[in-house]
Amino acid sequence: MTAIACTDLTRRFGTVCAVDSVSLQVGRGEFVALLGPSGCGKTTLLRLLAGFEHPDHGQIVIDGAVVAHPGASTPPERRRIGMVFQEHALFPHLDVADNIAYGMPRGGGRAARVRELLNLVGLPECARRMPHQLSGGQQQRVALARALAVQPAAILLDEPFSNLDAGLRAEMRTEVCDILRRAAATACFVTHDQEEALSIADTVAVMRHGRIEQIGSPHEVYTRPASREIARFIGEANLLRGEADGHVARCALGTLPLLSPIFGAVDVLVRPEAIDVRHDAAGVAIEQISFFGHDQLLRLRLADATILCARTLPRPDLRPGMRVALRVSDPVMAYAAD
Ligand code: ATP
Repeated sequence: MTAIACTDLTRRFGTVCAVDSVSLQVGRGEFVALLGPSGCGKTTLLRLLAGFEHPDHGQIVIDGAVVAHPGASTPPERRRIGMVFQEHALFPHLDVADNIAYGMPRGGGRAARVRELLNLVGLPECARRMPHQLSGGQQQRVALARALAVQPAAILLDEPFSNLDAGLRAEMRTEVCDILRRAAATACFVTHDQEEALSIADTVAVMRHGRIEQIGSPHEVYTRPASREIARFIGEANLLRGEADGHVARCALGTLPLLSPIFGAVDVLVRPEAIDVRHDAAGVAIEQISFFGHDQLLRLRLADATILCARTLPRPDLRPGMRVALRVSDPVMAYAAD
């Protein structure tokens, strides 16, 4: 079942086409990440779904009901959407329970539902606390409980973790996902952080210049990026000049099988972790090693002066100045050379 379907959605601001003919379907219970660089239109797309912006063109259907098309728009509060913003946006003069209950219909079950939500987000003792008495992470959980309180068809999250420091960010990421999964919620969240998108979404929609340029599972967009630009944006990418014959590409790292057929002059994508590094006095020189604890990044200079990065587990046997042989065994993507 589809929770959100938008078709051919367009929103212009003067001469800027912030969202350009976007079509997107979000299934019930699915987590979709809208990922892209600053200014690519992620927030505008989310605001269109929420009802804070109106499309110039196209249609939005939420839970089977048309909520927007040019000339008609259902207001945000009637869209069955829960929003979680960067800055939590709790009402400062209301305590936690009242913040959560704010949008809920009046009636007998209200207090019980608030208790249920407080349990869900792990704050059963905090009902009577004021927002300023909560940590950033706790405020985030209250914001989530408030968004879930109206039993929305989908939760929209706009860079929900970007105000948190690095440690808390990773923790909250796992926790928020866990809460959303337990609530069987559908979620669509905006991020410019590829690691965040890849680690928590079922589906990643990569946006550039107002368009969705690729949509797929995290594994798919990482291993088979649709373009060089997406390859670079989604992770570290070595792009090597080569020649392809439809089955293999010949480049400085040898003859590599292709994931998808292409012919002629190409740029071959080799992820740093796909390169196997062995000692070889006749090989290429290690210029530099950046050690990260869990792994390390080697900067290598090929015979034709191309600089390449390889990622290995921590290996004290490798040092700058040493010579190594490089081998890639997995099939690769290649893109028509400029
Ligand atoms: P960021 O990650 O920096 O928040 P984004 O991908 O969310 O960026 P949007 O905020 O959706 O991008 O903006 C897309 C484009 O539309 C940008 O060029 C932006 O300047 C423009 N834009 C967004 N809102 C408005 C507005 N209200 N008026 C004019 N231009 C706008």
